Amino acid sequence: MEKIKMITPIVEMDGDEMTRILWRWIKEILIEPYVELKTEYYDLGLVERDKTDDEVTVKSAEATKKYGVAVKCATITPNAQRVQEYNLKKMWKSPNGTIRRILDGTVFRAPILADGITPYVPSWKAPIVLARHAYGDIYNSVEDKVQKGQNAYLLITDANGNEIRRQLIQSFNGDGIVQGVHNLDESIKGFARSCFNYALENKIPMWLGAKDTISKTYDHRFKDIFAEIYADEYEEKFEEAGIYYMYTLIDDVVARVMRSEGGILWVCKNYDGDVMSDMVATAYGSLGMMSSVLVSPDGKYEYEAAHGTVTRHYYKHLKGEETSTNSVATIWAWTGALAKRGELDNIPALVSFAKKLEKATVTTIEEGFMTGDLIPLFKKEGVTPTKLNSKQFLYKIAEKL
Ligand code: NAP
Ligand code: MG
Repeated sequence: MEKIKMITPIVEMDGDEMTRILWRWIKEILIEPYVELKTEYYDLGLVERDKTDDEVTVKSAEATKKYGVAVKCATITPNAQRVQEYNLKKMWKSPNGTIRRILDGTVFRAPILADGITPYVPSWKAPIVLARHAYGDIYNSVEDKVQKGQNAYLLITDANGNEIRRQLIQSFNGDGIVQGVHNLDESIKGFARSCFNYALENKIPMWLGAKDTISKTYDHRFKDIFAEIYADEYEEKFEEAGIYYMYTLIDDVVARVMRSEGGILWVCKNYDGDVMSDMVATAYGSLGMMSSVLVSPDGKYEYEAAHGTVTRHYYKHLKGEETSTNSVATIWAWTGALAKRGELDNIPALVSFAKKLEKATVTTIEEGFMTGDLIPLFKKEGVTPTKLNSKQFLYKIAEKL
């Protein structure tokens, strides 16, 4: 076939360890034979981040602001052990955190479904997409220990420190603890718009849950901001698209999600999203089957796999041993970016190629060819699963494609 031509480049953020290996193979085996790939390349591998004092991460995020679509490979977030291992100048921050701060985005995680990989909740037929607010609450909190006989107050001052209001939190008649959390209207608004846009684009209903009955000011603010923005900017568009937005108590959302067939966007406050995303990911099967996209309120997209760099497999690979690492979520990062680029630049062939690559990948699994992580999960009548190594799996998909 004649290769599909692109117009605007995709911002390509390379990464670390096993996913860096898969990255190259996915491009070579599944994309470059069919697409005249145009990317602006940034090496976010730890070595290059250290060499550039992490400037490369900032530049890649700025490029994403400029071009609108990025694809990112998993990267190491260094800890003390990594500082030693890579002889780093310092313990660089998480690239995902840096990119998220620059784009001011919301992360949406969606499972990739294949027939034969049954979720632990049998009624879940369509993906449950989870959106987590990535600002504030206990993640930017102050905490303290308080002793018997002491008092804790919630104190609001003006910019000069003059007291405006003071509320007693507790007069402690025994030793205890106290915590102060906050959020910002602007951040909640950006979060709301990212979520409404995602729901519209994917034509799925959107549920927000919080605890406004107990938290009548704090959680209620989330409910109110979402309601206002929905009424002013999205209600008509939702009706046209045949979808709806619903707010209900977080407890009620949990109960509804468990009974649902999936196919919804579940919008969570920071802590709920942290916990529930792990529950949803586990219930759908494997980390290798969870895709992720960062969407900014002004419509910039960064696609990636939800999992990390799969370190244990990488060290096997370095020793020359065979690996069977699941590349599906990383393929999805590429197909997401290619399809979005095709949509924005009006290149139907590119969109359709991305969809075909996804279909070929899922069909390969459904016909019984998969990586080791999926073997124990796979149950389909008449199909005995075959375990392939990392590269064989990609070639099998290419055959199907
Ligand atoms: P991980 O790389 O996601 O791997 C955890 C374990 O899950 C693996 O050891 C493997 O289990 C299994 N697994 C994950 N993805 C898989 C796949 N595609 N195919 C098969 N099995 C898969 O998480 P981690 O070990 O906690 O973190 C490793 C590095 O990744 C860290 O340096 C961390 O900073 C980084 N990280 C990056 C991102 C990101 O860039 N978005 C996210 C998370 C973590 P078995 O070993 O049992 O096979
Ligand atoms: Mg978590």
